[in-house]
Amino acid sequence: MSKLNIVLFGPPGAGKGTQSAFLIQRYGLVHLSTGDLLRGEIKEETELGIAAKELMDRGDLVPDHIVIGMIRNKIESHLEAKGFIFDGFPRTQAQAEALDEMLNAKSEPIVAMLALEVPDEELVKRLANRGKSSGRADDQDEATARKRIAVYTRETSPLKEYYKAQGKFMPINGVGSLDEITDRLVKAIG
Ligand code: ADP
Repeated sequence: MSKLNIVLFGPPGAGKGTQSAFLIQRYGLVHLSTGDLLRGEIKEETELGIAAKELMDRGDLVPDHIVIGMIRNKIESHLEAKGFIFDGFPRTQAQAEALDEMLNAKSEPIVAMLALEVPDEELVKRLANRGKSSGRADDQDEATARKRIAVYTRETSPLKEYYKAQGKFMPINGVGSLDEITDRLVKAIG
C-alpha cells in the first residue's frame, strides 16, 4: 500500500501542530515537526540547539542543511510508518526539493499539501495567546511574531506554487472551531 505522506502547511500560528495531533491518531501517521525537533535540541543544549536558538528567537529560519539532515534521519528511523505528516517543513524551495528527492528515492512521494489559510491579524492574536502558555520567546514578542509571518510570506508561501505544479496543493480554511478545521482536513484527505 502506498504511504500517506502529507505536508501540513501554513503560516506560524495556523494550527499545524494542533491539527497534526488529530491526524496522526486518525491515520496512524508519524508526526515530523522541525520546530519540535529543534526545540528538543535546544532543551538538550546540543551544539546544533545552541546555534539554532539564536536564529529562532529572532524569527529567522535555521539553515536548510540542518533541517534537511534532521528530517532525513527521522525518515530513516521510521521505515515502518504508514506515512508522515511534515509540519513546518519544507519552508524553502531547497527544502522542498530535498524532501522530494528523499521520498521519490523510496517511491513514496508526498500525496498532498494541505495548506491552512488564516489572515495575518488572526495569526498575530493566536501567537500572542500561545506565548502566554508556551513561554516561547518567538511567540511572546509581537515584533518577532510579525517577522516570522513576513519570513513565511517571502520564503515559504511560494511553495504553494511548487506543489500546485505537481497537482498536490489543497487550500483549507484555517478559521473556525478546531473540529470544523479537522473535518475540512479529513475531507481533503478523502
Ligand atoms: P511556527 O510554525 O509557529 O513558526 P515552528 O515550531 O514550526 O513554529 O518553528 C519555529 C522556528 O523554528 C521557526 O521560526 C524557525 O526559526 C525554526 N524552523 C522550524 N522549522 C524550520 C525549517 N523547516 N526551516 C528553517 N527553520 C525552521
